[in-house]
Amino acid sequence: MKCTDFPESIRPYVVPEVAGRYIYRCLGCQATFGVEELLYTCPQCGSVLMIRDEDWDRLKAIPGPTWRRIFDYRAMVTEPALKGIYRFHELLGSILPLDAVIYLGEGHTPVVQANAKMRDWVGRPFFFKNDGQNPSASFKDRGMASAFSYLNHLIKSQGLTQVLAVCASTGDTSAAAALYASYLVDGVTSAVLLPQGKVTPQQLSQPLGSGARVIEIPGVFDDCMKIVEYLAEHYPVALMNSKNAWRILGQESYSYEIAQAFDYEVADLVVTVPIGNAGNITAVMAGFLKLHDLGIITQLPWILGVQSHHADPVYRYYLEPDPQKREFRPVTVQPSVAQAAMIGNPVSMPRVVQLVEQFRSIAGDQAVQVVQVTEQEIMDAMLRANRNGHIACTQGGECLAGWRRAVADGAIPDGKVGVLDATAHALKFAIFQEKYFEDRFEPEFGVVPKEELRNRPVLVRPPQGVPCPVPGAGMDAESFRAFVTATGDAVASMLGLRK
Ligand SMILES: *Cc1c(COP(=O)(O)O)cnc(C)c1O
Ligand SMILES: [Zn+2]
Repeated sequence: MKCTDFPESIRPYVVPEVAGRYIYRCLGCQATFGVEELLYTCPQCGSVLMIRDEDWDRLKAIPGPTWRRIFDYRAMVTEPALKGIYRFHELLGSILPLDAVIYLGEGHTPVVQANAKMRDWVGRPFFFKNDGQNPSASFKDRGMASAFSYLNHLIKSQGLTQVLAVCASTGDTSAAAALYASYLVDGVTSAVLLPQGKVTPQQLSQPLGSGARVIEIPGVFDDCMKIVEYLAEHYPVALMNSKNAWRILGQESYSYEIAQAFDYEVADLVVTVPIGNAGNITAVMAGFLKLHDLGIITQLPWILGVQSHHADPVYRYYLEPDPQKREFRPVTVQPSVAQAAMIGNPVSMPRVVQLVEQFRSIAGDQAVQVVQVTEQEIMDAMLRANRNGHIACTQGGECLAGWRRAVADGAIPDGKVGVLDATAHALKFAIFQEKYFEDRFEPEFGVVPKEELRNRPVLVRPPQGVPCPVPGAGMDAESFRAFVTATGDAVASMLGLRK
């Protein structure tokens, strides 16, 4: 739809302007820094940073209901820069000129309602939001679109020529970083550090296909992260992990889209996310708080974080009800099918602590909860979801298992509706489905397949003596007919069909 076709009252707002005053704010010492330089941690105290718009209150001049109309009308705009996360430009990147925006098809992922069978299995209605339908097949594209658009802006405005983007990854961060880097101008290259043997073959193929330098490191993600942090401290590289606060901004779009998908009535929703490095839950909470602050939503939803018992530092932290007594302790992770969340020392923990406090002070203590689930529950839930029309990865299974656990624990009142994050596409994690179906899980996982959830291919051959096609060799018409008839009847008999 052309701008000139929008209602008069909306027209001035359809194409956003460059505005705002963005700064990094340290969560440790509260110091602030300009964003002209890429910073990942506070130069004074080493804590993590958040990006804040010092001019945020200007947005309050527009009433909440008007913002809703602006975002809804913007959904009809054909300008590529506004088709992805920057539909919400004012909320997550207002200092970016639209010509710096890199749009590869991210965002606006489908929200799919669970069928009656799944609803009854859980005891509450729910939806999956399929973030596996992003370009690199995980939600990480939201944050990368932001981080790389900003990098692109720096390159254009400061004339940078050689930029090396690096990240540590449990698989999906590297796939997304490599994809966005490959789209940028020559001179931008990417290198990804992966824990050897701890990413799936599909995830490994992604950065390779995008032309990134792929470096495997012995150990787990937490070890790779330390090396990348060392690189960012001592060498001129652009760090693309969620320590980079631009990643968080882009991932806030997930919350904005949920609000929009539910006509901005989110009070009954329980937005459920898996927690790994805790960037996603940070962004989700920050996003809803911003919407609330501008009156775009009038009540906050609830947030439910889910962790596996094999990687549960955030769950353990919140077990202590008294905030004064809570103490964060990193854990040593055990092998987890929710490999993308297999993180023992989440970088965004200080962000989580602050945002949970803020969120709870507005919406009550129950409004943010963290539950723990077993590896067995994760696998069973993922397979059950996908037998009912979904495309959930293991982390999506983790969400479903957590949502069901919270309902069973009595933590979710009647009337609440889950919105579960299927954070990646099922195909990226096909190897875990395969292990389940073939009963090949290593003992550390503790996963025992349930017969009713297993599925295997069956080879059907025609009876002895009936000719079979051989690749490359021809077959006479009569032999071929005999093959089709005999094999067709064998398939029919296997399926219990009668003529
Ligand atoms: C990165 C990732 C997670 C974990 O998200 P965090 O922001 O690290 O907490 C979960 N699921 C998938 C598929 C991921 O790629
Ligand atoms: Zn500081």
